[in-house]
Amino acid sequence: MNSFLKQRYNDIKKYRAESIAMQDNIESISTSICTGCGLCANLCPTDAITLEEGSEGLRMPQIDLKKCIHCGVCLDRCVVNSKRRNPTEPHFMEEGYAAWMKNQNIRINSTSGGIYYALASSLLDAGDYICGCAFTDDYKRAGHIIGNTRNTLLRTMRSKYIQSDIGLAYRKIREVLESGKKVLFVGAPCQVDALRSYVEDQYENLVTCDFVCRGVNSPKAYQNFLRTLEKKFGSKVKAVHFKNKRFGWTSLSTHVIFENGKSYYGDRFIDPWINGYITGHFFMRECCYNCKYADTERYGDITIGDFWGSDSIASEELFAGVSCVSVNTDKGGKLLEQASDRLEVFPVTISEIVDGNGCLNHSTLKIPAERSAFFARCEREDFDKLVYELLGWDYLRKCKNKAKSLITTIRNRRLNRKSGEYINGILDDMEELNDGETI
Ligand SMILES: Cc1cc2nc3c(=O)[nH]c(=O)nc-3n(C[C@H](O)[C@H](O)[C@H](O)COP(=O)(O)OP(=O)(O)OC[C@H]3O[C@@H](n4cnc5c(N)ncnc54)[C@H](O)[C@@H]3O)c2cc1C
Ligand code: SF4
Ligand code: SF4
Ligand code: SF4
Repeated sequence: MNSFLKQRYNDIKKYRAESIAMQDNIESISTSICTGCGLCANLCPTDAITLEEGSEGLRMPQIDLKKCIHCGVCLDRCVVNSKRRNPTEPHFMEEGYAAWMKNQNIRINSTSGGIYYALASSLLDAGDYICGCAFTDDYKRAGHIIGNTRNTLLRTMRSKYIQSDIGLAYRKIREVLESGKKVLFVGAPCQVDALRSYVEDQYENLVTCDFVCRGVNSPKAYQNFLRTLEKKFGSKVKAVHFKNKRFGWTSLSTHVIFENGKSYYGDRFIDPWINGYITGHFFMRECCYNCKYADTERYGDITIGDFWGSDSIASEELFAGVSCVSVNTDKGGKLLEQASDRLEVFPVTISEIVDGNGCLNHSTLKIPAERSAFFARCEREDFDKLVYELLGWDYLRKCKNKAKSLITTIRNRRLNRKSGEYINGILDDMEELNDGETI
């Protein structure tokens, strides 16, 4: 065979292998629906799949065709493939509660009422395991970790409003479950669905908790937010705390601490991160704009989220944060019962929970036209200026928002002093968090 024909033969062979692979593997799942749940990578028998960051900083599965044996498992089980095998059944939200930690220190340092801390502690008390999302040491990324120590709990509490890299967590969870220990997994509903699908609902000792989910943001957007702040404050980031409560929970403040001892606070009136996320929706994962999990049918045994109030809860409680909880299965009910010594718990209706949370009610968002401009420019430009411009905030609007922020801060400080609970114990270093218990 001459060299030209040999080359053509090899090209056709390669093309054929690739097109077979495209038909029966995960690369046929569109970027607009892939949740990045990592199920395919955890399932692949030859470790041919890795989740790699694309241009928006969001992870998508990629296949090493040299390792792929075309078994089709990844596609067959993918959570967004409508023809998938063994789909997991959702549960209904059965009983609703508003709850918060009795320990004010933990409550203040949690995202809403600290319900996660209470649920996780009851497993750690028994020597069992928890799996949740932690920041990396430099606070630039987040990923799921598993462990049975107090350090695991401190690292996993608090919401990180970026996508958590799940890695090979489902495999590790199965190993622990096989050893007979219990595991509490907390994650976005798509991750809970993926984990249940991975273990095929085979383990009584697995308890799952999802949260009400508005959508996950791009780590690249978040890194550019931090980069701009590091430039402004002339120092590296030491810690990040979303929904910081120093000026009240409803202020939705972002707190960033720097190595040089300086601090940034931005509340819902001025913070470019929270406004780019909640008002502009500029940097969420594509699938989150039309999420199939935004429903009262839940994949977790228990669902947690923010509780924004009802007649049965005094409005002052919102200052320190209140969680909503829904019990969706017997396992979930048992877990809440075990955790209840640490909690104040009040029954509420499911509709009171849903009323404050559009993401339980099939709310869909339009992908904003500014989203692509954001990603095209975010690496070159200052994050705050870019977000304000895309939001259409002119000089006057920014001044008005600054004034609102100032007035609300003063009012909240006064309110807090009046109640005799001035919150100055927001902790910079999670290691110092002392709940009076040892685990
Ligand atoms: C991306 C995101 C969007 C959310 N959107 C809403 C919403 O629209 N409405 C609402 O009511 N609540 C929402 N929540 C949940 C809310 O922020 C609180 O987590 C919840 O109220 C429980 O608070 P807590 O004080 O009990 O526990 P926390 O101490 O806040 O515990 C949070 C738990 O979630 C896990 N977690 C944190 N970040 C991530 C992440 N990026 N990916 C996966 N798991 C994570 C942690 O490991 C921990 O187990 C969201 C959370 C996240 C992470
Ligand atoms: S299994 Fe998850 S990560 Fe893999 S393609 Fe499907 S949605 Fe995406
Ligand atoms: S080996 Fe199977 S599971 Fe892995 S990428 Fe190929 S088709 Fe998918
Ligand atoms: S909005 Fe939906 S798809 Fe996006 S992270 Fe949450 S559960 Fe997953």
